[in-house]
Amino acid sequence: MRIRTLLFIILVVLIGCSRDGQKTNQPDAPAKIVNVPSFNADSAYYFVKKQVDFGPRIPNSAAHKKAGDYFIAQLKTYGAVVKVQEFTATTFTNEKISLRNIIASFNPDKKKRILLAAHWDTRPVSSKDEEKPNAAFDGANDGASGVGVLLEVARIIGKQPTDAGIDIILFDGEDWGFDTEDKGTWGIAESPPPLPPGLESWWCLGSQHWSKNKHLGNYTAAFGILLDMVGGKNAQFAYEGVSLDYAAGVVDKVWKSAAKLGFSHVFITEKDGQMIDDHLFVNIHAKIPMIDIVSYAGDQGYGDFHHTQKDNMSSISKETLHAVGQTLLQVIYYE
Ligand SMILES: [Zn+2]
Repeated sequence: MRIRTLLFIILVVLIGCSRDGQKTNQPDAPAKIVNVPSFNADSAYYFVKKQVDFGPRIPNSAAHKKAGDYFIAQLKTYGAVVKVQEFTATTFTNEKISLRNIIASFNPDKKKRILLAAHWDTRPVSSKDEEKPNAAFDGANDGASGVGVLLEVARIIGKQPTDAGIDIILFDGEDWGFDTEDKGTWGIAESPPPLPPGLESWWCLGSQHWSKNKHLGNYTAAFGILLDMVGGKNAQFAYEGVSLDYAAGVVDKVWKSAAKLGFSHVFITEKDGQMIDDHLFVNIHAKIPMIDIVSYAGDQGYGDFHHTQKDNMSSISKETLHAVGQTLLQVIYYE
């Protein structure tokens, strides 16, 4: 009796769940044939290094300007319609900074859209570094890795379009925030100055701006995926708290895709805390369910590279870039 019940349940499950959750009540209906292209990790690595070679992409610096111009030109060569959202913001250190959110749209006429994002700015100081807390740093992982993966995704979808429309947003001004763990001159204050009206965090200035002033007034997307620090050696990504709160189905979809590709050692099933990252404001204000694929190191926070001089090209792994990039392609080509 028990075995029969079990068999019945298995049959129901088998009939109910076809490949990738698509319902196929008609057995003869042709399955969606998807030729998912290969993610080129060498190319993504090149894009990470290219950014590092500009120098730290600190807002108001020449390197920041050059890197932004490079992204715009590069995304256009892949066939994207590129919009640039320029604005100024005031930091917790009371500096006025000129920022640019860069929005690249593929197949802008498609109704179903998927949003992919990463931040492209570099934190001005390696504020958790024991030796040089006041010095600039490369931001190879924190910033450049996510953008590098997205530039490679853009290059690929420029050649082989997806069924859904894809929007890639490179958010500016993510990393000029107040952190109680900071050392050096940024670590002097015990608490940040009060936030000006309209600002909810000193972090994520670009995503806060975009989420309340979208590049198209009626813009929305079926879901979003944010990449942050996705290039570290032996990196792992856990279920991040905000992602679970707002977009559990998207977490499930992405982690299942990763598992299918053999990346369960990278996309692990541990639960992480809630992060203040760009996806938070996209979820709250833009009302788009968005997850964060973000470096996870248990008690070590994001990892020992974080906001230190160690965040340079020697910390970047092509294997990790590949796991993240191929998983993203698997997800977006099946939509
Ligand atoms: Zn950072």
